[in-house]
Amino acid sequence: MSGTASTPGCSHRPPRAPSGRSDFASKSHYRAPRTPPFTPEEAEKTTILFGNLTPKHDALIEAVFQGCGYNCRALPTPTRANYLTGVEFCNHGLCNPNYYTAGNLIDFLRKLAKEGRSPEEVSRDFVYFTIGGCGPCRFGMYESEYRQAAEEAGFPDFRVLTFLANTAIREGSRHPGLRYTLEFGLGMLNALIAGDILFDISYRIRPFEVQAGATDEALDSALRQLASALRSRARPAPPPSPGGRLRTLRRILRTVARQLRGADWQEALEQARERLGQVKVDWLRVKPVVRVTGEFYSALSEGDANYCLYRYLEREGAEVRVDPITNLILYWLYEARLNNRRRRGLRPGYWKKEALLALAAHLWAWHYRFTARRLGEVAGEPEDQQRIGRLAQPYFDPLARGGEGHLPAGRALEAVEDRNCHLFLTVKPFGCMPSTQADGVLALLAGRHPELLFLPLETLGEGEVHALNRVQMALTDARRQAREEFEAVIRQTGRSLEEIRNFVQQHPEMQSPFYRFPRTTPPAGTAAQFALHAAERMRREGW
Ligand code: SF4
Repeated sequence: MSGTASTPGCSHRPPRAPSGRSDFASKSHYRAPRTPPFTPEEAEKTTILFGNLTPKHDALIEAVFQGCGYNCRALPTPTRANYLTGVEFCNHGLCNPNYYTAGNLIDFLRKLAKEGRSPEEVSRDFVYFTIGGCGPCRFGMYESEYRQAAEEAGFPDFRVLTFLANTAIREGSRHPGLRYTLEFGLGMLNALIAGDILFDISYRIRPFEVQAGATDEALDSALRQLASALRSRARPAPPPSPGGRLRTLRRILRTVARQLRGADWQEALEQARERLGQVKVDWLRVKPVVRVTGEFYSALSEGDANYCLYRYLEREGAEVRVDPITNLILYWLYEARLNNRRRRGLRPGYWKKEALLALAAHLWAWHYRFTARRLGEVAGEPEDQQRIGRLAQPYFDPLARGGEGHLPAGRALEAVEDRNCHLFLTVKPFGCMPSTQADGVLALLAGRHPELLFLPLETLGEGEVHALNRVQMALTDARRQAREEFEAVIRQTGRSLEEIRNFVQQHPEMQSPFYRFPRTTPPAGTAAQFALHAAERMRREGW
């Protein structure tokens, strides 16, 4: 990655020149310092640190690393104290996620030092593995910020290994200690997708659980089952005996089939489903549906980075709709296809790239649906990127890169068309450039579509009380909408709520989190959708 180390005018430190000179007048192009390679000999003794997704994703990814023979530890969910550490050791003027993630890493390294390790031992025995990026927002600077923060905190030799999704093979060869085998890649695919689905369904089941805490308990044990399955199946198969291309191809296909559709993985998913199915739910609780989207990290966090927003919304009686990581990956693939099409005729290999990108998006969504079915068919569908792009197009160029690009605008218009939520909430970390652009467009959309209850929320390290107060005010309207919608549905069915409740009482399968009923919108509320279905079933069964 190359780029400037800090933004002139908003940094309190001059960017570092590659050789350690702080000579800003140097005309040579900035180059990120080379990290000494992570070698196979080190892999056995070194612990790979990573993290900053949800605890569910982190636990499953950790299991894949361990299954492939690495020592690995997921960092804890970043807290506000970590944010303050990040502010202390990183440049000024960065966006919130950079402070949270860098501070989380630095605090972990300091903890290791407090336990009695010298800085040299910490740098020798631990490496940080993170996704890297390049582009018009600050994401491309994270890697250099981590390095600088580690240096400032007294760990000058600490190594940050970045993984660029589109150059994985090359990165792999640069750090031969990290081998991107087929088993590793497919294990990560399973981990990300299963993590996504658990993340999604936890917010669809918990608001309706009859016994408080039952969903979290079931999720914990489902997560342990899946992690243990991933750990035991990620180890690469022994090297094949020499053979021709056909034999290699056969081996690859066998590995893909075993990793994605193997009986052991399906059984693990089935066991997780059974455990989750033990939670008893009451689908007739009227709750406003809050669609939360926005900047990736802030919208994914289940911690202080968004003021523990999801738990807060649930405590206030809402049902939250979250964005799984899958949607972001499908967006990246969609964007790559748009870029490829724009360059058609300028470069060779157009059709090959087009086909590969289409196939990748198709396979990802296909495997997501398969896993979602095995885990109870409650999770939402993967996002239709063509539709989101088409909706956003008149307001936000889908080719404008950075952050989540046109997604918030497209999702807001989708919410207007489908009437699938009572409150549309976008989270924007302080200092995020792409979200600032998106918020401008969303303000216009909110003006044109007054039926969309829209709340933009900026997440600072501070300001929690103010932000949550605004959420509470918006929720008052959302609750009223949900209640009115439900009452209208009950009137439409011609049944009383009591009658419907009695019917459900006598049909225990209707109290299962995996009971299937049409979830088409409108109405947006789960209770209203369920009441419509229950009334229809009562009619069919001559109740
Ligand atoms: S999208 Fe925003 S918050 Fe995320 S890295 Fe880019 S500038 Fe920072």
